[in-house]
Amino acid sequence: MIFESFPVGPLACNCTILGDEESREAIVIDPGDDVSRIAKRLTEQGLKLKQILVTHGHIDHVGGALKLKRLTGAPIYLNENDLPLVKMMDAQAAWLGVRPPETAPPDESLADGQVVGLEHYPAQVLHTPGHTQGSICLHFAPLKLLIAGDTLFAGSIGRTDLPGGNFDQIMASLRTRVLTLPDETRVLPGHGPLTTIGEEREFNPFLQGEAGVR
Ligand SMILES: [Zn+2]
Repeated sequence: MIFESFPVGPLACNCTILGDEESREAIVIDPGDDVSRIAKRLTEQGLKLKQILVTHGHIDHVGGALKLKRLTGAPIYLNENDLPLVKMMDAQAAWLGVRPPETAPPDESLADGQVVGLEHYPAQVLHTPGHTQGSICLHFAPLKLLIAGDTLFAGSIGRTDLPGGNFDQIMASLRTRVLTLPDETRVLPGHGPLTTIGEEREFNPFLQGEAGVR
């Protein structure tokens, strides 16, 4: 397995490249920015991009998706509930004081329960609304890995004060969809360091008393 994760853009969104060493197929998750760096790594590794998976419609996660699609031909996947956010990219860019990237509606939605990813590295889509209405996590069960987007961070959770955010909803998503995963599951959040479900269950101040349905 080829696995690379590195921060992109001014908000340091964790962008992930996952590739299959045998088939040379790859997916990219959250190409928020720095598309030339992402494309360069794909080329250097001899990888053919199959899917561009976006955890939610915020500019720092989706901003480079169309550019990467144009370079590689790979389709963009995003949960349809975040289409309103993609359509307000100019406003999102204004919040950050950056130039709005060109965007387009996704080619495919990411629906709850859908299986995406590579043949040898499949991921199940968990719809986890709250940070945004279309926020999803990607659960690579065989890898014991959760790509959490901005739903869960090491020691924190996603903000819910932006359009489409809802605190009760993110707590319900965490309780019913995220904390139900095994403790040893590694969590790669949308920003900041890796953690595990067990560590967050025990120490995350937002999750105290949220044991989850096991
Ligand atoms: Zn976000």
